[in-house]
Amino acid sequence: MAEINRAVKGTNDILPDSSAKYTFIESKMLETASLYGFREIRVPTFEHTEVFVKNVGDTTDIVQKEMYTFTDKGGRSITLRPELTAGTVRSVIEHGLVNGALPVKVCYLGGCYRYEKPQAGRLREFHQFGVECFGAASPAADAEIICLAKQSLNEIGINDISLEINSIGCPDCRNEYGKALKRYFEKNIDKLCDTCKDRLNRNPMRILDCKNPECKEIAKDAPTVLDYLCDDCAEHFDGVKKHLDAAGVKYTVNPRIVRGLDYYTKTVFEFVSGDIGAQSTVCGGGRYDGLVKSMGGPDIPALGFAMGIERLMLTLQNTNAPFPEEDKCDLYIATLGDNAQKEATKICTALRSDGYEAGFDICNRGLKAQMKYADKIGALYTMVLGDNEIASGEAKLKCMENGEETTVKLSELSDTLFELKCKSVF
Ligand code: ATP
Ligand code: MG
Repeated sequence: MAEINRAVKGTNDILPDSSAKYTFIESKMLETASLYGFREIRVPTFEHTEVFVKNVGDTTDIVQKEMYTFTDKGGRSITLRPELTAGTVRSVIEHGLVNGALPVKVCYLGGCYRYEKPQAGRLREFHQFGVECFGAASPAADAEIICLAKQSLNEIGINDISLEINSIGCPDCRNEYGKALKRYFEKNIDKLCDTCKDRLNRNPMRILDCKNPECKEIAKDAPTVLDYLCDDCAEHFDGVKKHLDAAGVKYTVNPRIVRGLDYYTKTVFEFVSGDIGAQSTVCGGGRYDGLVKSMGGPDIPALGFAMGIERLMLTLQNTNAPFPEEDKCDLYIATLGDNAQKEATKICTALRSDGYEAGFDICNRGLKAQMKYADKIGALYTMVLGDNEIASGEAKLKCMENGEETTVKLSELSDTLFELKCKSVF
């Protein structure tokens, strides 16, 4: 197939037969977030490259290898967002949201772009739902967003999912831990991949996040960050666990979780699905207390998470989770002749403004082909409309499920559909 007829590698088309499922996931996410007080924010798809380099961190895979960066016609370096936290932080500072009443709670949905090796659950354009909470330092805030992530997953039908938590401490404890890691990995330097050799000097903790199997093997016996937490960070982590216990949320502590972004402090967490193969993390998040200040905002704590919509969809598909029934055409009018087609325009316009999905033939086909089409789109009711029906003001409404016919007045179609729909519900 010619290149022009093919989507770019790593991008996905969402076709009409599955788009309702995505809408279901996305609206459940926004609905659940609003129960916790999070309101939607929409930020641009691209930002100045510096926004990501500075905030995601220049030792991360994202910044080193994965960004879609280009120079625009005005000579600016622009990057398509690889995630939404950096843009969101830029936005809440720029518009002064973080100078008002705290906490500020925002959530978002949107496309992200990363030049990665495409495979199941790993795309170059994917979508995230996420939340960010600004100005809350208490462990209760960490537990609150974890509860929200869990409830969002449950609301869409993902129940069999494990929560893994860790604390990577503050810059002070990380400093000590970094030295210990460096000592450990230096002993094994020959076995590390080239990227990790570079990380050893710049940010040894990144090595724990490497996907290379040999690096993973060596990382297994590396010192654990939990042994290096200062009193304040240890107490915070303990508080998070107590709040999770109070909420009845089960978790395991996994000291290997460091998350892929540089800006995290203290709590980090992931929700992992056993149902989608290698790319099993559906949600990742944590606290990033230094980020707002480092971006030029006030010195306030912050935390958040993001989940990959496509990975949620894979999990749902692989577990055969049920989706709500899709909307169907309430009434399809099969028309006989020009006059009837004009009348159908009038009737459908009225029905649609009353909130019914109505349709009729706009391809000038014969009756048989029209009925076949009505069947194909799963119309709930059909009605044949010709000169006789227009003259008498009455027609037969046919229930496509059981074949039953009811004579209806054309002027009362809306009321009749309402009654029939009520009956079918009860
Ligand atoms: P991974 O370890 O899988 O590379 P990550 O640490 O890079 O994930 P984050 O930056 O924390 O991921 O993004 C949050 C979520 O977004 C991930 O948990 C995942 O569900 C989703 N995600 C990240 N990268 C991709 C991608 N390339 N394609 C699809 N979903 C993705
Ligand atoms: Mg990644």
